[in-house]
Amino acid sequence: MQPWKSVRGFERFSLCDWPGKTCCVIFLGGCNLHCPTCHNATMAWHHDTLPTLDQSAMMRFLQNRTKWLDGVTITGGEPTTVDGLETILADIHALGYAIKLDTNAMNPGVVADMLATGYVTTFAVDVKGPYEKYPALTGNAVSAETAQHNVERIFAMAQDNPGRFYFRTTRVPLLTDTDIETVRGYLPAGFPLTEQKYIEPRRTSDAQTDSETRRMHGDVVTGADCECHPEGAASQRGEGSAALQATGS
Ligand code: SF4
Repeated sequence: MQPWKSVRGFERFSLCDWPGKTCCVIFLGGCNLHCPTCHNATMAWHHDTLPTLDQSAMMRFLQNRTKWLDGVTITGGEPTTVDGLETILADIHALGYAIKLDTNAMNPGVVADMLATGYVTTFAVDVKGPYEKYPALTGNAVSAETAQHNVERIFAMAQDNPGRFYFRTTRVPLLTDTDIETVRGYLPAGFPLTEQKYIEPRRTSDAQTDSETRRMHGDVVTGADCECHPEGAASQRGEGSAALQATGS
């Protein structure tokens, strides 16, 4: 499939998704995990039910915003599951944008390949929890052993490329304080762990552009230190189609 056909959501502007940068957010459909706490279930598992977005319109938007946006966040779902991801990154990179790629760390080979391209400025890596809890945290999509193997490969890349990776854990109900400290202890020396608060997903038919606690459906991407974070009432926009209407410039 043409890689850009995997784009199933687009948010024009975020102040909070990429710390210190203004960015827009591109959502790619599909995921290799099945987290019961997923805030982006439609994007992750039923992306074929979402309309594709017009590549030309998105490229026009990006071309027209180079002075106003520092970068582009690529998220999902899980972007590394998309065949031809490199093509999307190359097209955006050619416009001069920095790129942040969100990943759940379960495709370290793809992360290595994307790192090698030089297109990605920053990898934002979700570490779900202690390895032994991965089966429960991911809907039995991965074993503890597989999770550990994959995450540790990402850690090795981070050590070799300081400044290109950061790590975060969403405090879902299954995780305890001890679990968070366990994850913190996994990280390579010098890498802090960003703990993200969790709120219950709203499983509605129009939930399209959420990812764990960072996005309520159809809302801009937010950070835990922002007023507009999903924990705040101001973030509950509730119009799931908003992100899909964002290609007009
Ligand atoms: S929470 Fe993230 S990794 Fe888990 S199923 Fe949803 S999109 Fe995939």
